[in-house]
Amino acid sequence: MDDSKRGFLKVAGGTVLGTLGAAWSRASLGLGKADEAATVASNQVRNWGMVIDVKRCREKEGCDACIRACHINHNVPSIGSTKEEVKWIWKEPYEHAFPTQTHPYLEEPLHDQKLPVLCNHCENPPCVRVCPTQATWKREEDGIVMMDPHRCIGCRYCLVACPFGARSFNWSDPRLHLTETNPDYPTRTRGVVEKCTFCDERLADGKLPLCVEACRAEGPGALYFGDLEDPESEVRRVLKERYSIRRKPDLGTGPQVYYLV
Ligand code: SF4
Repeated sequence: MDDSKRGFLKVAGGTVLGTLGAAWSRASLGLGKADEAATVASNQVRNWGMVIDVKRCREKEGCDACIRACHINHNVPSIGSTKEEVKWIWKEPYEHAFPTQTHPYLEEPLHDQKLPVLCNHCENPPCVRVCPTQATWKREEDGIVMMDPHRCIGCRYCLVACPFGARSFNWSDPRLHLTETNPDYPTRTRGVVEKCTFCDERLADGKLPLCVEACRAEGPGALYFGDLEDPESEVRRVLKERYSIRRKPDLGTGPQVYYLV
């Protein structure tokens, strides 16, 4: 068992067998048996956060396992149009992801690199403040910024408020753009917003988020996940050991996704 898994299991505390994740998609993504058994007592966690090791991600050039795992299992449609694109996790060039933290002499590998980006589950989320129906909210118990498409009226205020482009709107029926449907995860409808929820459904079953699990399926992973409030957690350990940055820190939203550079 590697350190990262041990750290997550330490938070875990018990064994809960989850049911989410269709066999076809798990097999196609190479997700391991050990990961299926990973457990976590979510009620012990105070603030979920993610850490992305930019150098390790670079070593896996061309890899999109995190994106495929997330999008296939969450029934995220593939729409061949930038304007109507729906995405929960995607890649951005460094200078787009960190526009205020770049300069002409930045080391070239970093300058040219595309990095995974997703909802930052901000400490102070502007998207939540503008939602008129509380279709999106920040969970007090663990910091996840949730999204309930059933309460969404499609006003798209949250899309405008999010400075990270982390929310997508379904301009058309997303179900028409799925090549396969995961029956264990709900599909959405036309006219609602969607985004990453840190795999809240998997955390409830004691599992790591799909992107983290898929990244670790083949060798050392570039993604870490855990309780930022726990000084003994793996995320806190790597943040202590390496220099890290967050996206657009000057805006004051307090992203809970960190990048090791
Ligand atoms: Fe909201 Fe955007 Fe922050 Fe996610 S990244 S919590 S959508 S403001």
